[in-house]
Amino acid sequence: MLIILDRDGVINAYDGHYICSVDEWHPLPGSIDAIARLCQAGHRVAIATNQSGIARGLYDVPDLDAMHQRLNALVSAIGGRIDFIAYCPHHPDDGCDCRKPKPGLLYAIQQALALPSLAGSLMVGDSRKDLEAGLAGGCNVALVRTGNGRDTETHLLKRPLAGVRVFDDLAALVDDLIA
Ligand SMILES: [Mg+2]
Ligand SMILES: [Zn+2]
Repeated sequence: MLIILDRDGVINAYDGHYICSVDEWHPLPGSIDAIARLCQAGHRVAIATNQSGIARGLYDVPDLDAMHQRLNALVSAIGGRIDFIAYCPHHPDDGCDCRKPKPGLLYAIQQALALPSLAGSLMVGDSRKDLEAGLAGGCNVALVRTGNGRDTETHLLKRPLAGVRVFDDLAALVDDLIA
């Protein structure tokens, strides 16, 4: 199965402030191990992340590349692999097709991995826009309670989305998935 992960608040700590350099990028407990366990169970892992901090001039593509090199190094050191990282560098006002809740990043992943469809794939996020993007792209969706996840869970009580499964964190989701 293809597992598409949001980044901030799912893989790394996120408190609402932009993560502007590799020094500010800190994996959540168990998240790197969880990615490796997915790979070892035969799943493929990709990332779909909004990075409007680039359009806002807070950091640049080399800064983002450094974060993703760090992530890839940590995952590969324990036998995992991230097949593709799709990011949206645009500002919310740019009206692009890739910023979540639109599904453009998910389609970019589908294309990069040459998959006929995203049906049966799982989108994992901590924000409503992740879940909306996943549903728009035809994926199953799961919410984690890290990052924005608890606020998102509360908001879902008022404005539900169909078929959202909720887990404490990525490690708990992977425990369930490969049990
Ligand atoms: Mg997030
Ligand atoms: Zn975009």
